[in-house]
Amino acid sequence: MRRIDTRNFSRATRTTSKEINRQIALNLVREHQPLSRAELARHMGVARGMVTPLVNELLADGLIYEGTTGNPPRGRKPTLLHVRSHDRLALAVDVRLSQTHVMLCDFSGQMVALERFATPASPEELVAGVSARIERMLSSHRDAGACEGIGLVVPGMVDRRTGNLVHAPTLGWRDMDLRGALSEATGMMVQIERDAVACALSMMWLGPMKGNAQDSFVYLTVSDGVGAGLVVNGEVFRGHRDAAGEFGHIPLSLDGPYCLCGSRGCLEAFTSSPATVARYLGRDLVSRESYAELRESSLTVTDLVALARGGDHRALAALEESGRYLGVGIAVIINALNPARIVVGGELLSGWDLISPTMHAAMTERTLTSGAATTPVIPEPADEQTRLRGAAALIIAPMFAAPAVG
Ligand SMILES: [Zn+2]
Repeated sequence: MRRIDTRNFSRATRTTSKEINRQIALNLVREHQPLSRAELARHMGVARGMVTPLVNELLADGLIYEGTTGNPPRGRKPTLLHVRSHDRLALAVDVRLSQTHVMLCDFSGQMVALERFATPASPEELVAGVSARIERMLSSHRDAGACEGIGLVVPGMVDRRTGNLVHAPTLGWRDMDLRGALSEATGMMVQIERDAVACALSMMWLGPMKGNAQDSFVYLTVSDGVGAGLVVNGEVFRGHRDAAGEFGHIPLSLDGPYCLCGSRGCLEAFTSSPATVARYLGRDLVSRESYAELRESSLTVTDLVALARGGDHRALAALEESGRYLGVGIAVIINALNPARIVVGGELLSGWDLISPTMHAAMTERTLTSGAATTPVIPEPADEQTRLRGAAALIIAPMFAAPAVG
């Protein structure tokens, strides 16, 4: 699923396929709305007569609508075009280790309703819990529009062909058809995606639209788990069998702390929220059980940040150490992919000013060129909506995507 490059479409001519021109027009309306037909023709660099049939088709398909008129200083007021997003709805489900969030939103990503509940231990209970909330939300927002599908975001690897959840280390779930079960329970179309990829999709499709459509960046989530969404030349890079991007499990040590993937010394086992808290408490992560015990302590990374700011040196040291390992991990990503920038999200972000000195020092030490060392690492303000918007993008983005070739 590629974005249309609305800043570089020299191919928008009379000979360009109508389907591509139509998607260019739709994306331009989305970016510049509200706009007149004349403005759209100007943005496309074509004569107004060429735009009219494209607009008529988009209107007939209900993808755009004619709305409020503009106020030119004189003359006839033009009718302005808008993307029809207000009465088309999507459901976004974000499954995390501790909580599951369910959001109903419109096709611009604007939230209509949100519910949260503790993530159950079994996938069957999760599906029951999610579908009950979906039913409730849809029945209390009947007038808001029609819901066109469910985007499901999971903390684990997904097989794109079967839609199966292959492995969610933090939940301990393997090889299950969560998408099929939710689709069956709700009677709706469901798309499933790994959390870090969803965050990257959220930036690509429902962000401020500033990014270049040929953008290359990495979205790194540092939370209960650590994962990366890779975007190369404006498209998510998934690898041969959809397993690319598992940078949370690159080994930083052969015999480091136990990781929930079953291995040892992974980036995740040094930098995840439980790993940072364990370091502060002086506990060793030696097994899955030690993670469960840790959860009972109820101390969070956000608490550690508050303690560090209050002068607790051990809390600061635990955070700085996570920053150092994170810097090494980021250097590995830069050396492997050389992205234009790395966006980091997750709980650790609340203490970004505390961890970034050690993070940057390690990153500089481990990157191989001075250019690589200056790759921008951008903290994304702590915002639970990123994953949810990514889930919604699974349903919304295909409407705006470049036509598939082949
Ligand atoms: Zn691991």
